[in-house]
Amino acid sequence: MKIKAPRGTIDFLPGRIELWQYIQEVSREVFSRYGYAEINTPIFEYTELFLRGIGDTTDVVSKQMYTFTVKDDKSYTLRPEGTASVVRSYLEHGLGAAPQPVKLFYIGPIFRHERPQKGRYRQFHQLGAEAIGSQDPALDAEMIVMSMEILQKLGLGNFLVNINSIGCPVCRPTYRQALRDHISPSLAKVCPTCQERFEKNPLRILDCKIAACKEVADGAPKSIDYLCPECQTHYAQVCEYLDAFKITYRQNDLLVRGLDYYTKTVYEVESLDLGAQSALSGGGRYDGLVAELGGPATPAVGFASGMERILLVLEEQGIKSPHSTAVDVFVISLGDAVRTQALVITQQLRQAGLKVETDYLGRSMKSQMKQADRLGAKYVLILGEDELAKGVVQVRDMQDSAQTEVPLSQVVDRLSQNAQQPAKA
Ligand SMILES: [Zn+2]
Ligand SMILES: [Zn+2]
Repeated sequence: MKIKAPRGTIDFLPGRIELWQYIQEVSREVFSRYGYAEINTPIFEYTELFLRGIGDTTDVVSKQMYTFTVKDDKSYTLRPEGTASVVRSYLEHGLGAAPQPVKLFYIGPIFRHERPQKGRYRQFHQLGAEAIGSQDPALDAEMIVMSMEILQKLGLGNFLVNINSIGCPVCRPTYRQALRDHISPSLAKVCPTCQERFEKNPLRILDCKIAACKEVADGAPKSIDYLCPECQTHYAQVCEYLDAFKITYRQNDLLVRGLDYYTKTVYEVESLDLGAQSALSGGGRYDGLVAELGGPATPAVGFASGMERILLVLEEQGIKSPHSTAVDVFVISLGDAVRTQALVITQQLRQAGLKVETDYLGRSMKSQMKQADRLGAKYVLILGEDELAKGVVQVRDMQDSAQTEVPLSQVVDRLSQNAQQPAKA
């Protein structure tokens, strides 16, 4: 029996990984322009971090975590999201003493035991950013435009920002109660999960996908009608900035996001070109999380994007990495007698900065030529016994098939000049 990769995981192979790398390259470039520095935290943490950080009534924590113990009997969990680890690290390394806000981004794997489907995997990857240490609504707006700029730079468009404010510890209890009062008469109709949510986490009933729950959520009180003055002002300011940036957004009363730590702003960017799984990035403010994890009261805001979903969308839209995988030079050697010299030239060309391939299977001239063609070689260099005896090599320009004889002593210089010029039209 052949062993397969675990269900819900992906191998990224050459041919696909180039676009995958391009997503990271564009993200790093955008993050850096907005002043975010990269942070790399472990992919596993003590389980307690996620229980305290994300909240044990969320689906992510109660149903989807990969939790394990090893010989030390401590409980570990593969990270089911990125923010808790970044905040843990911020506290552990005293980043609260650095100039605030501390702006960090991460790119890496996330693990959730969910039913795999298109665009949803058990090991998936997120790119995300966190700005910790300021409650300025400019940062909420910055997260939204920055996450959109990454998607735009990758070639995507037609976005709609869904945005909402879910209040703070001052105003949310009143809203929660109003929501319970609305749902209570119909509690028997909602799904078992929502019945569990009713006491501890009634906001999540608003974004349940089940029809009966949607019906109950319809006409429910809106969180923005219950905001305290501080939350109201903050939300109005975020919207004002989005208007100033000319971002198309929609106040979505049902948007609450899946994690407990959010306060005030929550948002999702969806692409109108996609179907049901249309959210390409999402995030919000989490002013209580740093304190929840044992730090001083510290406001913060962040977002994350699922990279597999972005990859699928780029592929569906026929978008490719702009970086060519073609080789500059293919070195054809004919016969054992010239093999060493051919390898020396190959090596010298590589060290001169060119992308160079050669034959490793003792193929015929014709099939080496075919291989050069397959690899998209700009130049083919042909070395046979006659050439070696004369101290020359044949250089063929693959664009116009022109072939010239070049002295062995000059070929590296000549090709490193030529191959670095843009290809002829
Ligand atoms: Zn409030
Ligand atoms: Zn439900």
